[in-house]
Amino acid sequence: MDVASDLRSLGIRPRDRLVVHASLRAVGADAETMIDGLIEAVGADGLVVVPTFTYDTPGFDPAITPSRTGALSEALRTRPDAVRSAHHSHSVAAVGRGAAALCAGHDLLAATDIDSPLDRLAMTGGLVVLIGVGHVANTTIHVGEFRAAASYLAIPFDPDWPTGGDDRFAGCSRAFGRLEAPLRERRVIRDGRVGRAVTQVMPGRAVIEETVALLRASPLGFLCTDARCYRCSLSRLRGERDRGAEADRD
Ligand SMILES: [Zn+2]
Repeated sequence: MDVASDLRSLGIRPRDRLVVHASLRAVGADAETMIDGLIEAVGADGLVVVPTFTYDTPGFDPAITPSRTGALSEALRTRPDAVRSAHHSHSVAAVGRGAAALCAGHDLLAATDIDSPLDRLAMTGGLVVLIGVGHVANTTIHVGEFRAAASYLAIPFDPDWPTGGDDRFAGCSRAFGRLEAPLRERRVIRDGRVGRAVTQVMPGRAVIEETVALLRASPLGFLCTDARCYRCSLSRLRGERDRGAEADRD
């Protein structure tokens, strides 16, 4: 398997800046092979970013708290040249040019707020790479929710999630597949494979723009329909209550 060659076939070039969400099982590669291929594809002047979320892990320490977003993220985080942002629940790790600047100050912001690492990446031409996973793993959509000031950001995914310096949360992503159709309509998705895994590459900025557009048209459009989902059920109730109050005023 040649991960770098597969990525080049998808249009990835030296100096590209990527946020990568991947299923190693779908690719058929181990984490080190995957990371080496990603770094080879973007070169020394490129940047590779992965989510290293810790959610409700107590006592977060960016230097030691393991990532809970998969083996690839944990392997990249523990590379000697990796930089990790200091957000208590939604940190990212990055290797390459500009990694420290990308990660700086994340502890002062809400999870995927404006100017958080994935927002910075998207706004500076960064690409989202989904390898063997769908848009349910596309964290940049959460950035779009913050840019749209979605009504439900104050409700955590789980009521036990710890609060930091901000009371806004990146929450449920089960319905994020809804963004794929508008992105395809806009023709910004490049399709291919990495190893055995179906792969999509797209500009982060387009992901954010289409998320904001979808939320303007349908403010609760990214809520899932699972009745057991704390965030989405409560958000829907509040949304309906607010619409009821508006109707009463009319
Ligand atoms: Zn949900």
